[in-house]
Amino acid sequence: MVKQREFSEKEKDDIRTLMKFVRIYCRENHHVEKTSFSFKLFDIKEIEKKEISLCPDCARLLTYGLTMRLKCPHVPKPMCKKCETQCYHGDYKSKIREVMKFSGMYMVKHGRVDMLYRYFV
Ligand SMILES: [Zn+2]
Repeated sequence: MVKQREFSEKEKDDIRTLMKFVRIYCRENHHVEKTSFSFKLFDIKEIEKKEISLCPDCARLLTYGLTMRLKCPHVPKPMCKKCETQCYHGDYKSKIREVMKFSGMYMVKHGRVDMLYRYFV
């Protein structure tokens, strides 16, 4: 695995949040066969201590989301919905919104309000 660069704490934070949201969404909605998620730009286990298993669709969405997050040209990253770049397009945009909404609500119901507004697309 080639290490491209070090990630800032803020980036790692966003990566963790994104993974958490997609993981909850997939776990609660997709009851199909899942595989362990891996990403080419970094070792997941360096950032999140546990492995995450996703269905093929969610794996694709998370790969896209992580790629876009790491390519984000703005420092600090603004809230995605207020950003002029709008890197999520088409299906990915509606899908990530659905994921954020579902998992956001899930966290509220389970007392994780602190997670809610930190990464809102
Ligand atoms: Zn899924």
